[in-house]
Parts: sequence; structure tokens; C-alpha cells
Amino acid sequence: MSSSIQTLDYDVLVIGAGLAGLSCGVRLTDRGLRVGVLESSDVAGGRARSWADAKTGDTVDIGPHVILNKYANMLGLLQRLGTRHHIQWETRKLLTVLDKGRRIPIQQWRLPPPFHGARNLLRMLPTVPLHVMASNLRVAWDAMTRTETEMLALDGISARHHLESMGVHRDFIDWFWASASIALLNVPVEQCSAAALMRVFAQMIGHNDAAFGFPKVGLSDLYVPQAIDIIERGGGQVMLACGADQLQWRDGRVTGVRTHRGRVLHARACVLAAPPSAAARLLPGEAPARMAAARMQPSPYVSTYLWFDRRITRERFWARPWSPREFNTDFYDLTNIRSGGNGPRDTDGARNAAGSVIAANLIWSHRAFDVSDDEIVAATLRELTDFTPDAAQARLLSASVHRIPMAVPCPYPGTERQRPETQAVPGLYLAGDWTHTGLPSCMEGATRSGALAAEAVLAAAGVRARIACPVPETRGLAGLLRRFWPRRTSRDGSAPAGVGRTSAP
Ligand SMILES: Cc1cc2nc3c(=O)[nH]c(=O)nc-3n(C[C@H](O)[C@H](O)[C@H](O)COP(=O)(O)OP(=O)(O)OC[C@H]3O[C@@H](n4cnc5c(N)ncnc54)[C@H](O)[C@@H]3O)c2cc1C
Repeated sequence: MSSSIQTLDYDVLVIGAGLAGLSCGVRLTDRGLRVGVLESSDVAGGRARSWADAKTGDTVDIGPHVILNKYANMLGLLQRLGTRHHIQWETRKLLTVLDKGRRIPIQQWRLPPPFHGARNLLRMLPTVPLHVMASNLRVAWDAMTRTETEMLALDGISARHHLESMGVHRDFIDWFWASASIALLNVPVEQCSAAALMRVFAQMIGHNDAAFGFPKVGLSDLYVPQAIDIIERGGGQVMLACGADQLQWRDGRVTGVRTHRGRVLHARACVLAAPPSAAARLLPGEAPARMAAARMQPSPYVSTYLWFDRRITRERFWARPWSPREFNTDFYDLTNIRSGGNGPRDTDGARNAAGSVIAANLIWSHRAFDVSDDEIVAATLRELTDFTPDAAQARLLSASVHRIPMAVPCPYPGTERQRPETQAVPGLYLAGDWTHTGLPSCMEGATRSGALAAEAVLAAAGVRARIACPVPETRGLAGLLRRFWPRRTSRDGSAPAGVGRTSAP
């Protein structure tokens, strides 16, 4: 790549050194391009990063993250970086759910999808009557038969509205769907786009081999130094504490970036891989992507870390049904996940591997804004004791509360169809979990968006490359129905008659 207009500092400039930006930077470097990555923070990794806890010195993540074995783009990137073996896979079961004092192990049968979930339904029967469970048949059939375009036709309505219109029993919505919406999409079911929730549901019932994995090392250690090393060995640079302040334009085309330090850098192409609030500030007023970015609202989290003097569980991961009156939904015992790294210290400072380090996520954490850290720790302890009474006997050695203004952008009704495509304006490409990836906002979406942006940059230079892995096709009966069931929407994906619109809160 070369320019006849001005001297190029890099072939490509990437704004943002989160998963999306670094994924894009690595893939472009691998194709022989010199990549400059600008990062406003003094550390890379964005919302998927880790640091040394100030009191214990242990590596802690911004908040615990779960990886799926279906994350083909992310696992492909980790393979490239040589860190794929740092994932601890949960092979015995998917997870344990604590419901009304009962521990329910969620496991899959190796039956063709969607029958693999039957075992879990049988386990729920004591608490969920058969007719309540059966009220989901219509919505399951509907989700299995929709294509991506037909899913998007549901974007204007809330997931609760859709479930009710499909006849799902109110008790099941309050118990299962309310928790699924919070855990998978980080917003209450009343405020979640039906398209977003049904798309994830279709994936859940369309695969009988899903497994959860957890990083055995800090999140940053999984990809940040390795990605920076590849980019810099390829002649590029990752510039920390060097945010993009303004895009540079010539003849209606983006030609570079002015940094917060006032330096102007030029490149043949730029990739904007910043979160929506930052993207909205940089994109031009008339660009549809700017309006989409400006509409996105954050879903905040509080992640709490607790260090105990003794082992309080042998589990890796468990969850509680969501309730607006309680705090945490998902819990992790890092001592059963990390490879010897984490564990509280004895009074002499030595690592005490016999103790538990617990991490928990409070999702959609608005209700904790005015609650003190001490109160959050006390509530987390109470909720932990519900699962493992041993926690009441253990001594709490240390605690940390991380308040995170945005874990993901909220998939409110109407936002799914607005997620922008990779090509934003001439010379500028978009990446980030909030862009149109066919996935919820998550690490896989971020990594895929970076790969899609790399493909688009190369295509503009006349190089055809297949870098991004597609969203997995559903399988079994679910897969057959999706492919062969008669289509129901117009080709542009507009909503079928009777599907109204509700506005985002
Ligand atoms: C507590 C928590 C739990 C989560 N749990 C999961 C999970 O279990 N599974 C999962 O898959 N995902 C999870 N996620 C979501 C996942 O972390 C994100 O989807 C993903 O990291 C987003 O990556 P990104 O690169 O799109 O954005 P970011 O990580 O936000 O990266 C964007 C980068 O751009 C930088 N930037 C901003 N403005 C500028 C500017 N003007 N110039 C230069 N740089 C700029 C930012 O500093 C940042 O480094 C979780 C997130 C959080 C916070």
C-alpha cells in the first residue's frame, strides 16, 4: 500500500486497543501491513483486561469472563497468539444453578438439537409444573425456524412482549427468561430486544456440544502482550495513553487521525475500534453509524472479589436466578480455575493455595450505585453462603469491589437493526462488540468485528482474504428447520403484520 497524496505513517491506523482493535491489528500485521494502534488509556485490553489487585497482589480481571467453545474467532486468535491452552474448560457440566436452595446441575445429552436439553427440563420438573414448561414449545419452534433476517424483524418489540404473545407462562418468564436475559444480554427481559434474546436462544437450542471455559490466567495475559508483540515485530506500534481526538479528512475520505497530544498521523485506512460513546464523538454528524453509536446505552456491572482463609467450594462456576431485589447472578471460585496463581496469602505473605478466591458479577447494577462497597461485600457474602454454607465459617481476608460503567451496550428494542456494518465512511472501518456481528456484544463479537474490519481493509486494497469465522450454523432438527422451513418475512426483513414497536427506555 502507498499513497500519492501524503506521507503515510502506517498502512493502517487502529483506534482502540481492546479485543476488537488488537484482533484487527494482528490479522493485518499477518498480511504484511504496518499497523499503528492508538489507545487512549495507559493500558491496553479495554473491557477485557486484568490487573494486580492493590491489596493482595493477585491478578484480578475487570470482572470474571466466560468463554464459549463456540467462540471460533476468539479461539482462533488465541491459537495464533499461542495462549489457547490457557483456557480451563468445564467438561463435567455446563454450570450449576442454585434455585430456592436446590442445586441444579445443567447438563446436555448428546441427542440431536434441540432434544439435548431434555435432561435439564426433567430436573426442573419438581419446581416447574409440566404445563408451565410446555408453554415454551411455540416460542422454541419459532426461534428454531427464523433466519437471521427474520430474527431482526423482532427487534422492535421487547423480549417479554414476544414471549407473552407466544403464550409463554408468566411464571416461566419471571423465573427462566428474566435470568437468561440478564445473564446473556445484560438487560432485564422487559427492556431487551426480542431479536437479541431469540437469536441467542436459537443458538442455545441449536447446539448440543456447548461448553464454558474460563481463563486460567488474567484476561490481559491471554492476549494483550502477545498481540502487541506481533504488531510491533511487524513494524507497527501500539501507542498507549495516545487517544484519537479527531479524524483527518481529504476529499470526503478519512486519511488519518489527530491524537490527544496534537500529533497528526496518516494512513491509507483507519479502523475505529472504540466503544460507542467514543465512536459517537469521532464519527461525522451525518453518518448513520454515529447516530447508532449515540443511541447505545451502557449496561453497568459491579464485580466483587473475596479472599478467604480456606477452601469453601470445589465448584468452578455457579449461578442464581436473577432478582431485582438481590445482587449477584454468577459466581466463580478462581482457586479451582487458575493454574496455581491465585490464592490468598498467609500472614507471612506466602501463597495459601488452600483458600478460596471468589469472584461474582452484579449485572445491570443501577441498584448498587448508592450502595457502599462494604454493603456490596456483605450482600455478596450472604448470597455466597446460600450456595456454600462453609463461607459463613471461613475468615474473609480481603475484598475488592470493581464498579464498571459499561460492560456491554444495552440491546434495547430497536438497537439490533441499527448496529452498524464494518464500512462506515470512505477510508474508515468500524469494529467493536457493538457493531453488526450477528452476535451479542461479547468477546467473540469483538474479535469477529476486528477480523471483519481486517477483511474490509484488505478488500479495499484489492486483497481478498477470508479471516472472520461465521456465526455457527444451528444443527440437528433445529438446523434443518432453520434451513427448510417456509420463510415468513419480506426480503428486507421488515416485521410481519401485527408486530408493533416499543421504544427503548
Ligand atoms: C465485567 C465484565 C464481564 C464481561 N463478561 C463477559 C463474558 O463473560 N463473556 C464475554 O464474551 N464477554 C464479556 N464481557 C464483554 C467483553 O469484555 C466485551 O464485549 C469486549 O471486551 C469488548 O471489546 P471491544 O474491543 O469491542 O471494546 P473495548 O474493550 O471497550 O475496547 C475499546 C478500546 O478503545 C479505547 N478507546 C476509547 N476511546 C478512544 C480514543 N478516542 N482513542 C483511542 N482509544 C480509545 C478504550 O480505552 C478501549 O481500550 C464482559 C465485560 C465486562 C466489563
